[in-house]
Amino acid sequence: MTKFVGYRCSLCNTEYLPGQVTYTCPKEGGNLDVVLDYESLRRKYQPDDILGRKEESLWRYLPLLPVPDPGGEGTPLRAAGWTPVFSLPRLAAELGLGHLWLKDESRNPTASFKDRASAVIVARAREIGAEVVVTASTGNAGAALAGMSAAVGQKAVIFAPKTAPPAKVAQLLVYGAKVILVNGSYDDAFDLTVEAAAEFGWYCRNTGYNPFTAEGKKTAAFEIWEWYKTSLLEAGVSTNHPPLTIFVSVGDGNIISGIHKGFKDLLALGWLEKMPRIIGVQAEGSAAIANAFHAGTEKIIPISAKTIADSISVDLPRDGVRAVRASRETGGTYIQVSDDEILKAIAALGPLGVFAEPAGATAYAGLVKAVAQGAVKSDDPVLVLNTGSGLKDVRAAMQAVSAAPVIEPTLEAVRKIL
Ligand SMILES: *Cc1c(COP(=O)(O)O)cnc(C)c1O
Ligand SMILES: [Zn+2]
Repeated sequence: MTKFVGYRCSLCNTEYLPGQVTYTCPKEGGNLDVVLDYESLRRKYQPDDILGRKEESLWRYLPLLPVPDPGGEGTPLRAAGWTPVFSLPRLAAELGLGHLWLKDESRNPTASFKDRASAVIVARAREIGAEVVVTASTGNAGAALAGMSAAVGQKAVIFAPKTAPPAKVAQLLVYGAKVILVNGSYDDAFDLTVEAAAEFGWYCRNTGYNPFTAEGKKTAAFEIWEWYKTSLLEAGVSTNHPPLTIFVSVGDGNIISGIHKGFKDLLALGWLEKMPRIIGVQAEGSAAIANAFHAGTEKIIPISAKTIADSISVDLPRDGVRAVRASRETGGTYIQVSDDEILKAIAALGPLGVFAEPAGATAYAGLVKAVAQGAVKSDDPVLVLNTGSGLKDVRAAMQAVSAAPVIEPTLEAVRKIL
């Protein structure tokens, strides 16, 4: 695996060889960026070598990933990624935008964006011969690790807060993972997982801790690049267009960092003309990263998180610094939305056939606010990510709509309510 040459600390820039470290920088705990051998990749591949690959999953981008082929053909592991992009002309018109699309990550095998990270983690676990993989999770990361592991018979242990939505806990259990519910917050589960991994020799997937999660998440950037390259002209976007603006909901900050990393990889290969503008969206009650962004610093001050969007409810974001940079270095910004705006976004996407969980609809809520604030112009092409399925949290979904009437089984009763 010569293309994977090591890691670079995002805080102190120290470089490490692949065998020297496993998780974060030993000096100050900084997140590690995976470094690839861009020179040899550039010599070996042209964009067409990637665009011409047949596999319709994130494994299409295997040449740009730091893991070997994990096998598992014909299983859900090979079905992660390659999610559809929908055009939203009705909402675009409402918002006064020329071009608006939504990439629907709820179509992943376990119904959230987290499958991208977990698929690559499972590949890494197989490469290093890890017997057990463990993660802390608000639900989706765990479901993804449980599902991707189940696909290839890998053992998985999941720590989640006992308050995780029942559908997510059910998913973990049904996939056959060892599920441990913690009487505490996600942050408590996170710290416990790190300790347990060290104690029992497990391979730890924790978001914003294991450098390979961002490598899985970057495949969304590759798909956006490929989709934009091939569908741009069809959609009538001129080649002189402003760069694509991408809206991403942010909790720990690993999705937004991973997407940024994907575009940086493409830039390093000389395959990307314009860096997209990346806008992070946080819930008002869980906005530690947005706070740092707007304070003009990279210092992340923990908060006491409270939001209906459980997947982005985080006291201390574990990938905050890179998440701030993802927006700062691409001309983006951070937007904060209320729980009420998140519920409205769920209700706005539903009638288009997109069922989003609160954290998934948060990105669209951010777009609505960004338009109102003038952060997005009418000719900006915009892509919103829906990161998770509404089936994950039915209780929240019911708060976004009015209840259905219950009637006597008579036509008269039907007439009355019509
Ligand atoms: C995890 C998650 C996010 C946020 O990702 P981070 O890497 O924590 O910022 C957003 N939406 C959904 C549905 C998620 O599961
Ligand atoms: Zn460091």
